[in-house]
Amino acid sequence: MNGQVPAEGIMKTGDWGDSKVYRIACNCHDESHNHNIWIEADDHDIVVNIYTTGKTNWWSKTRWHHIWTLLTKGYIDTESSVHLNKQQALNYAETLTTAIADVEQFRKEYDAKRQSNS
Ligand SMILES: [Zn+2]
Repeated sequence: MNGQVPAEGIMKTGDWGDSKVYRIACNCHDESHNHNIWIEADDHDIVVNIYTTGKTNWWSKTRWHHIWTLLTKGYIDTESSVHLNKQQALNYAETLTTAIADVEQFRKEYDAKRQSNS
């Protein structure tokens, strides 16, 4: 089994050559479980940011517990999970691998062009 194109569970939401944005959809269709991933090539390196929505582990604690924790510690713990089947997980991995290679290549060509113009 390999990554697919187009890939089940993966949606490209932005592409500016040296940065790409994808949405990884959770299998349960709850959008707050999605991963939004940004893959960017900057001057020195590749940066990957993964954003998701965390929720308190409300199933194991009472609301009062969370309020008390917030008052005494100043923060509350949150958790998030994304559920993928095998194909979607492979697509996720493939998307990261391909996007990193793409933005790196774009950046190299961009830098080469800039140097030959100066
Ligand atoms: Zn979910």
